[in-house]
Amino acid sequence: PLPVLAVVGRPNVGKSTLVNRIIGRREAVVEDVPGVTRDRISYEAEWNTKRFMVQDTGGWEPTAKGLQQSITRQAEHAMRTADAILVVVDATVGSTTTDEAVARILRRSKAPVILVANKVDNAKLDSDVAELWNLGLGEPFPISATHGRGTADLLDTVIGIL
Ligand code: GDP
Ligand code: MG
Repeated sequence: PLPVLAVVGRPNVGKSTLVNRIIGRREAVVEDVPGVTRDRISYEAEWNTKRFMVQDTGGWEPTAKGLQQSITRQAEHAMRTADAILVVVDATVGSTTTDEAVARILRRSKAPVILVANKVDNAKLDSDVAELWNLGLGEPFPISATHGRGTADLLDTVIGIL
């Protein structure tokens, strides 16, 4: 079986946009309305001849508490099953309490975790990224999933740990 890269994080941070970029096509559902992705969907991907599965997560819950629970459950599932985990946050928003809850779980992960700071569309936004060190997941990796900024470097790093 191919190694599995799980992509987790709260709604609307750009997980599905990043997954589309990783798989090189538009299949993961990107929506301005948060939470349209079904619970977990896997796609086959390849980077520099390395093949792997990338797993998008999503789901929708009617309440903030339910939402936080379902996202933390996804993180726990990823920790049990994935070979590497991308935890995506929105650098233009900064860390939220949900991001902190997810980070608290993923700090115990045996599988390697990469903190992805998304929506860093231009160099002006680079300074927003340093704050994300406070999540305790190491160095934030700045990217723009829509523009492709930083995503090649990210994938180089990912296949190095898969
Ligand atoms: P998900 O809920 O985490 O899967 O997020 P989506 O991939 O559905 O994206 C949510 C919204 O954020 C959409 O409107 C995307 O176009 C937007 N988005 C995703 N990545 C970026 C990015 O790198 N920069 C900007 N400015 N917007 C982004
Ligand atoms: Mg999604």
